[in-house]
Amino acid sequence: TKEDVKSYLFRNAFVLLTVTAVIVGTILGFTLRPYRMSYREVKYFSFPGELLMRMLQMLVLPLIISSLVTGMAALDSKASGKMGMRAVVYYMTTTIIAVVIGIIIVIIIHPGKGTKENMYREGKIVQVTAADAFLDLIRNMFPPNLVEACFKQFKTNYEKRSFRVPIQSNETLLGAVINNVSEAMETLTRITEEMVPVPGSVNGVNALGLVVFSMCFGFVIGNMKEQGQALREFFDSLNEAIMRLVAVIMWYAPLGILFLIAGKIVEMEDMGVIGGQLAMYTVTVIVGLFIHAVIVLPLLYFLVTRKNPWVFIGGLLQALITALGTSSSSATLPITFKCLEENNGVDKRVTRFVLPVGATINMDGTALYEALAAIFIAQVNNFDLNFGQIITISITATAASIGAAGIPQAGLVTMVIVLTSVGLPTDDITLIIAVDWFLDRLRTTTNVLGDSLGAGIVEHLSRHELKNRDVEMGNSVIEE
Ligand code: ASP
Repeated sequence: TKEDVKSYLFRNAFVLLTVTAVIVGTILGFTLRPYRMSYREVKYFSFPGELLMRMLQMLVLPLIISSLVTGMAALDSKASGKMGMRAVVYYMTTTIIAVVIGIIIVIIIHPGKGTKENMYREGKIVQVTAADAFLDLIRNMFPPNLVEACFKQFKTNYEKRSFRVPIQSNETLLGAVINNVSEAMETLTRITEEMVPVPGSVNGVNALGLVVFSMCFGFVIGNMKEQGQALREFFDSLNEAIMRLVAVIMWYAPLGILFLIAGKIVEMEDMGVIGGQLAMYTVTVIVGLFIHAVIVLPLLYFLVTRKNPWVFIGGLLQALITALGTSSSSATLPITFKCLEENNGVDKRVTRFVLPVGATINMDGTALYEALAAIFIAQVNNFDLNFGQIITISITATAASIGAAGIPQAGLVTMVIVLTSVGLPTDDITLIIAVDWFLDRLRTTTNVLGDSLGAGIVEHLSRHELKNRDVEMGNSVIEE
């Protein structure tokens, strides 16, 4: 009936609007492309998109803190321990599967032909050893100054240097970069030479450190009985307030996405400059991500939960499109929360606990891409990798994906770790920079999908603990 249609439309308004935004944005982008806008004009044109990025990023910090604190506080230590273990096992398993897929695909397709003809190369990048990077990752789990951890900072601990640099435009590390290839190469060189971003940072903020602190803090106030009540209520209502702000931004999101996509299409490089090997490399990454996101992850979800993965993924559509539009899994986090809790009905105790952690450390798409790109660079250099080196690549690619921030093109920076670990020339990151903005969007979408399906899987596996906790707390228990 008419009423049914109306309520259907209203319920799916966000998704319909978002999908429309992608379509209109794409058409608009290609229509305006021939006019060759200047850099400034493109900036003006994409302004509504830039605003969306900023709004989302604005919420990320309070969202991560309040959701983790309340999430941890709502669980008893046994439940949080078990849930945490399950999440970590899921993150590790899926990341390793992703890396293996990346390696197999790049070996089979073999996009690199042992010649660097028609490919860009220049620039010099500082050598960072894998061990340095590992230690830095652990180091940043414990920020010495919590207040400082909330500010934009770029540090290389191992070089005893500290930088605070103004990053212009959309505030992303490499986001503003890919305007033209030579500028990109310069900036990449500068960034990797001088400012190695804090591993695990989000938008310059040491998110990993905040995640660790918030979890410990939530754990403690969860066990504080009466004395912790005030803090529990405070963070609970902070979390609720932030989620209401997210609901407001959701209405703006489609417009922002429209301009993010249109703006990117207007300013992107002509495809003509992309040589044969690079095109093959792009296809290889797409195939790898496709296998992981469309076959492996849904299958895993089905095997564990026995529920239809596509229904679950349908509920995530807006988050996935936001990931595609923003190429940042941390900026997408607020929307991911909304989709999981409201569309898919995932228990808040699970989302609050696993999503912020997932968005910070679980990046399947990035891991797959890092391993694949490293081997591609080896192929281009006619560098024969032995089995041990391939294992090294898989380990460092996993670490690099954990260390990569959920911001645009962070994976490109942490690639340095993977390349140095097997002695490949780090300068060759510049070979793949021209297509990275595009692949970044796809791997970010894969990252968000992995985090979300993970929340569904952890919820399913933890259903008994959650129910017991409900009984204990005298909550009404919903029978399955
Ligand atoms: N942009 C990705 C993300 O936010 C990280 C990457 O560069 O791979 O998930």
